[in-house]
Amino acid sequence: MTSQSTTLSSHNDAPRDVHDLTRGDLLDLLAELKQPSFRAKQIEEWVWVKNARSFDEMTNLPKSLREELSKRLTLGVLEEVARQGSVDGSRKYLLRLTDGVSVECVGMPSGNRLAVCVSTQAGCAMGCAFCATGGAGLTRSLTAAEIYEQVMQVRDDFNARVTSVVMMGQGEPFMNYDATLAALRKLNSPEGAGIGARHLTVSTCGVIPQIMRFANEPEQFTLAVSLHSAVQKTRNALMPGVRKYSLINLYNAMGEYVNKTGRRPTYEYALIGGINDTESELQALCDFCEGTLAHVNLIQLNEVEGSKLRPSTPERAQDFVRALARVGVEATVRDSRGADIDAACGQLKQRVLRGR
Ligand code: SAH
Ligand code: SF4
Repeated sequence: MTSQSTTLSSHNDAPRDVHDLTRGDLLDLLAELKQPSFRAKQIEEWVWVKNARSFDEMTNLPKSLREELSKRLTLGVLEEVARQGSVDGSRKYLLRLTDGVSVECVGMPSGNRLAVCVSTQAGCAMGCAFCATGGAGLTRSLTAAEIYEQVMQVRDDFNARVTSVVMMGQGEPFMNYDATLAALRKLNSPEGAGIGARHLTVSTCGVIPQIMRFANEPEQFTLAVSLHSAVQKTRNALMPGVRKYSLINLYNAMGEYVNKTGRRPTYEYALIGGINDTESELQALCDFCEGTLAHVNLIQLNEVEGSKLRPSTPERAQDFVRALARVGVEATVRDSRGADIDAACGQLKQRVLRGR
């Protein structure tokens, strides 16, 4: 394990989990057990690449060592407590973490590709008006290992290589920056999931200081920013959690991001009938994007229980695509996978399992 993995730490005082050990920790433990140091790499491979569910599975280790490890360490794995399959082949999982909190993630196959959408927090504190996760508040941030393991869970269930990961499940990744970065690095690493950095996407509601931090990371990770309106008043109402990060500051920060990285960010824009799909909203969006390096992802709002907000019409979405094209901005209307199983964006709800 590299030194970067030192941030893969536990979220509380729970007994030490093997996921939380650095290479150095593991070597110390092996020395204490009078075991050769090459065992460290073997153990790491079982944990991170093979996603072993028990020490007993680690068949290239002597039985005595497996027993010793299981006495001293836990091997925390996410437990699947429920799943739903969509007609489009997507599968949504409800996964229980070791402290009983649960999160959802989704696997979306398409041809020989497999995309996974993961959660970075249980719940979210940002309170966006259109988001099911935001409604319930934040339970806690996830550790890097908990983020990483969601991907491995989906990989093992589909028995297929994961080709891309989007951090678009529950939570705001940039309110859990260190764990998110550590998880991205492990997903990227050949000693982990080995997924190319460009195929690893973080979606943020626009936490500017962390966007700047992200711009300075050496890897070519992909950034998506949830914009949803380029009119300050509308955005404040839709996304109260980022009110303090004004659109003009976001615009400038994204300019710096592009200058620094040379990479094209995506703006997410969920079309909400009568709210952010009017002519003046469209004009503001065009002004915000014109002359910048950006891609706009238009998403039809997924309806959320108890909310009065409704999606826009498909014709309106096409108006947006055409108007953006006229100012030289590429836009696509993204199909929402798994809408029939409530797994589409913004519909992953927080649930705390009790009595297990
Ligand atoms: N917190 C991050 C990432 C998780 S949300 C963020 O906000 O970017 C993932 C994406 O789903 C975001 O673009 C978010 O704005 C969008 N989303 C949330 N609720 C939605 C809904 N009801 N319909 C469509 N998209 C939604
Ligand atoms: Fe949180 Fe993103 Fe939902 Fe907003 S859209 S409440 S930031 S998860």
